[in-house]
Amino acid sequence: MKYGVIVCPKCGMAKGVEAAKKTTTCQCGREIELSHVRLQLRTDSPLELAKSVADANASIRGGKPMPTGKKRGRRDAYSFAAEAARQVRDPIERVKAVSEVLTKAKGEFTMDDLRRVATILGKEEAEDLLARLLEHNLVYETSAGVYRAV
Ligand SMILES: [Zn+2]
Repeated sequence: MKYGVIVCPKCGMAKGVEAAKKTTTCQCGREIELSHVRLQLRTDSPLELAKSVADANASIRGGKPMPTGKKRGRRDAYSFAAEAARQVRDPIERVKAVSEVLTKAKGEFTMDDLRRVATILGKEEAEDLLARLLEHNLVYETSAGVYRAV
């Protein structure tokens, strides 16, 4: 069989490959060693190959949103944290919400992360947010300048 379909381990999209090749490069930029992945379908027909790749990607796209990479996820965490903060009136509960969202999304967070949330919020200084978190023991410092929600 000349061709096969693989699924990229990085972006999850299907790709048609020549079975004889050793490596291929996905549209997301990931170089894939074919010996490391399973060929999902084997065929001698380029037409059948193209069709099964299209079908596989259509069902992948239909099932979940297109992979967007880390940067987008991080940016979302900040607006998510700001959004959570906006829904809380109590100033202590508000910073608590921010630290909990950041910790959940990123594992831990820094002053830089707080600044980004503060920028979205508009009326709070990151320094004040952190001071409030520390004052009320809502976070602990895992290493210098790195914090986690308690
Ligand atoms: Zn990929």
